[in-house]
Amino acid sequence: MRDLLPRERATWRAVEKAAGDVAIRFGYAEIVTPAIEHAELIERVGEDTDAVAKELYRFDDRGGRHLAGIVRAYFEGHLNQDPQPSRLYLTGPMFRYNRPQKGRYRQFFQFDVEAIGSDSPALDAEVIEVAATWLRELGLRELRLELNSIGDAKCRPAYLELLKAYYRPLKDQLHADCQRRLETNPLLLLDCKVPQDQPFKAKAPRITDHLCEECAAAWVAVRRLLDAAGIEYRHDPYLVRGLDYYTRTVFEFFPANGAGSQDALGGGGRYDGLAQAEGWPSTPGVGFASGIDRVVELVQTAGTPVIAAPASEVVVLGDAGLEVAAADVARICRVVRSVAVDYEPKSLKAKMKSANKLGARWVVLITASEAERRVAQLREMATGEQAEVAWADLPAQLA
Ligand code: AMP
Repeated sequence: MRDLLPRERATWRAVEKAAGDVAIRFGYAEIVTPAIEHAELIERVGEDTDAVAKELYRFDDRGGRHLAGIVRAYFEGHLNQDPQPSRLYLTGPMFRYNRPQKGRYRQFFQFDVEAIGSDSPALDAEVIEVAATWLRELGLRELRLELNSIGDAKCRPAYLELLKAYYRPLKDQLHADCQRRLETNPLLLLDCKVPQDQPFKAKAPRITDHLCEECAAAWVAVRRLLDAAGIEYRHDPYLVRGLDYYTRTVFEFFPANGAGSQDALGGGGRYDGLAQAEGWPSTPGVGFASGIDRVVELVQTAGTPVIAAPASEVVVLGDAGLEVAAADVARICRVVRSVAVDYEPKSLKAKMKSANKLGARWVVLITASEAERRVAQLREMATGEQAEVAWADLPAQLA
């Protein structure tokens, strides 16, 4: 498997765009199927074939993250030698082996934005603005942005001691997972959702009251930049990350009326310790990942309505034996509209019905005698108006 770095993507995009554009002009609609399937499915259809014997890529799935891959590609692709920071984005599938439920899938799609190679808090605010702008442009205005700082390797250890000292006398009243976390990963006590532990959070020390000078300055700077950008946020002192390489800013977007933490539209933060933890030179970075599936779902219910165009604006149909003429007519119309030909062995009436169901705006009917004269009947579906048109005049009529 290999990386496609930004300098190669321009050509890739052109090739992919052309493929998609041509398919669309031919009335083919896009479909996306999972990149993995149950092995049994492939074995059933391909018994005794190369597909099963040699090519079946079989594995047990586990979760993964884009971020670690992007940071690896940043070093392996020498993006660290470009002017910094490297501003990167990615959309693609993610696989996580957890229990599927509403809004939680095993293959889902993420929009990732990362600025790697700078510790400027302006970039924390910038990636938040990228996410906010994207969501706003999709018509999603009722959003809640939660923000916190979790310090860094300089100030966090002392804070964690304070947090442990606060919780230790309460240990017996915490549920079992949190009793264990108290010693292994105390920051996660703040993230706990179990009702019996909630009353203790309010009096727990807050890390934003114990930041070192640099982290405190960054915390002020990020909020000042968000204010200037007109982006509203709420300080959530319980928003944390459980991994040591996360530093300073953490944030999460939710639908404003969403009930809980399960429905985050996206989240991110700074990860100044990640590169080093992975064995690369110490390099700061900040970014976010958003669940496209969840954003699409919300756009469908609350965002800007997206009116799907019919896959084929024009359907060409005629009697059996007129395939060459039908394909010729379709080729002429395709200059201005998306066109599909109905080649199925059905009656004209049945073909008209299909075209109507597909949402075609026009139907072009051809008969053998008309084809000889290079004319056809052009019918506008909405009005039912129909007239004879010379093939050569079809583009003008359909424009
Ligand atoms: P995370 O890296 O866990 O913060 O995930 C970033 C975003 O990806 C989340 O805010 C969700 O919007 C989305 N997401 C995470 N896991 C899933 C999943 N299993 N199914 C759908 N979306 C997900």
